[in-house]
Amino acid sequence: MSNYRVSIDRKNCIGDAICTALCDNFYMDSDGKASVRSEIIPDSKAEENIEAELSCPVGIIRIRKADS
Ligand code: SF4
Repeated sequence: MSNYRVSIDRKNCIGDAICTALCDNFYMDSDGKASVRSEIIPDSKAEENIEAELSCPVGIIRIRKADS
């Protein structure tokens, strides 16, 4: 089983909240930009986080294997 690391290049977030609608690991912070609840996630959460990664219109969400 692998863990994944989730990150957002927050300075380029346009605050459209698409990621938060797709995955509850993302939330809108008080500055109007998205933040991550858990930076390390298990396999079981990877699919919904990757869906958010692929749906971000400015491509700033990164999901990578944490072990490699
Ligand atoms: S989908 Fe991308 S641009 Fe939109 S709120 Fe989430 S991180 Fe920001």
